[in-house]
Amino acid sequence: MPVVKADAYRHGALEVSRVLEHEGARWLAVSNVDEGVALRESGISARILVMADFLPAERAALLEHNLTPVLHSLDDIAALNALAERNATPVLYHLKIDSGMGRLGTRAEPGAIAQAILAHPWARLEGVMTHFASSANYESGQTGEQQARFDLVCNALQSAGIAPRYLHLSSTIPVAYARRLAWGSMVRPGHAIYGYVSPPRGDAPSRILDVAPALAWKTVVLTVKDIPEGALIGYGGMFRTTRPTRIAVLAAGYADGIPHRLSNRGRVIAGGRFAPIIGAVSMDVTTIDITQSPDLDPGDPVTLLGEAGGLSIDAQQIARLAGTISYSVLCGISARVKRVYI
Ligand SMILES: *Cc1c(COP(=O)(O)O)cnc(C)c1O
Repeated sequence: MPVVKADAYRHGALEVSRVLEHEGARWLAVSNVDEGVALRESGISARILVMADFLPAERAALLEHNLTPVLHSLDDIAALNALAERNATPVLYHLKIDSGMGRLGTRAEPGAIAQAILAHPWARLEGVMTHFASSANYESGQTGEQQARFDLVCNALQSAGIAPRYLHLSSTIPVAYARRLAWGSMVRPGHAIYGYVSPPRGDAPSRILDVAPALAWKTVVLTVKDIPEGALIGYGGMFRTTRPTRIAVLAAGYADGIPHRLSNRGRVIAGGRFAPIIGAVSMDVTTIDITQSPDLDPGDPVTLLGEAGGLSIDAQQIARLAGTISYSVLCGISARVKRVYI
C-alpha cells in the first residue's frame, strides 16, 4: 500500500498514483478525505485508505467516494456503525492501535477493543494497523515494545474470533531493514516510493531495499554579474565577498521550497561543479558563487536537487545542511515549481 499523502510527498499524487496503479498497487494510502476524493475524481480506482480520517462531518464524502477510513477510537467504531446502519450498507474500516507512539490510534484494552468490534457489525473490520515511532533507531527498544503491544491486541482479537484480512505495521524503514516480523500482510512505504531510505541509528541489519531518488529539481540562472571584493550580498548583508566574485542569481527561493537555512550554507550544481549559496536565500531568488564556472549564462539550468555531470545532491544532504529531515525538504517543494514527468 504505497503512501501518496501530501501530494505524494510533493511529487504529484495523481501522476504517482496512476503509475503505481499501473504497476499493480491495489491499495493507496492518503492522509485525509480531500486527498482521497481528488484521486477518485481523477479516475483512480485502487482501494484508498484514509489514514487520518477524523471529522464525522466528512464521513458522507468518504462513503460516497468509496474511501476506506482508519478509525482511531472505540467511539469512532460506534459512530461509523450508526452511519452504516442508517444507510443499510456495511462499511469496511481499518483500526489503528496506538501501540506506543502516543499519537493516533486507540489505547483501549484488547478485550474492550474486541467487544467494540463485535458489538458494531455494520462497521466491518478489514484491517488492524499501527505505526512505529523509532523504527530507524536500533539503539532503542521502542519498536520491539510496540510490536509486542500490537501482537497482544491481535491475539486478543483472534481469541474473540475476529480475523481481519490485513495486519499492517511497516512504513519504509521496517521494510528496508528487513524487520520481517513487522511486515504483517501489507506494508505502507512512502519515502521508499520516492527513492529514499533514511539512514538507521545503531546496529542495524543491512538494507535489503535499493532505491534511488525519483525527483530532480532544477531552476535557471536569471542573471550573472561580477562583484568586487568586500561587497555585501543579499538581505542583511549576510555574505561579504573576499575576492572579486562572479555571482549568478537563480530563479528560485524559499517560496519555492529552498530552505532558508541554506543561506550561506547550501550548494547547487551549476556548470558541472558544486557552487555555494552565498548570502540569504530570498523568497524568489538565491545567489550563488560561480567564480569557478564563469561561462554560465542567463537561462542555463542549475540543479538544486538531483544529478548533473556526475555530481549529485539529494534531499538527505540538503536536510543535514538545513537542520531538518529529508521528508520536510521534499514536502517543502512548493506548488509554484512546475512538475515535469519523464
Ligand atoms: C506517512 C506514513 C507512512 C509512510 O511512511 P514512510 O516513512 O514515508 O515510508 C506509513 N504509515 C503511516 C501511518 C504514515 O502516516
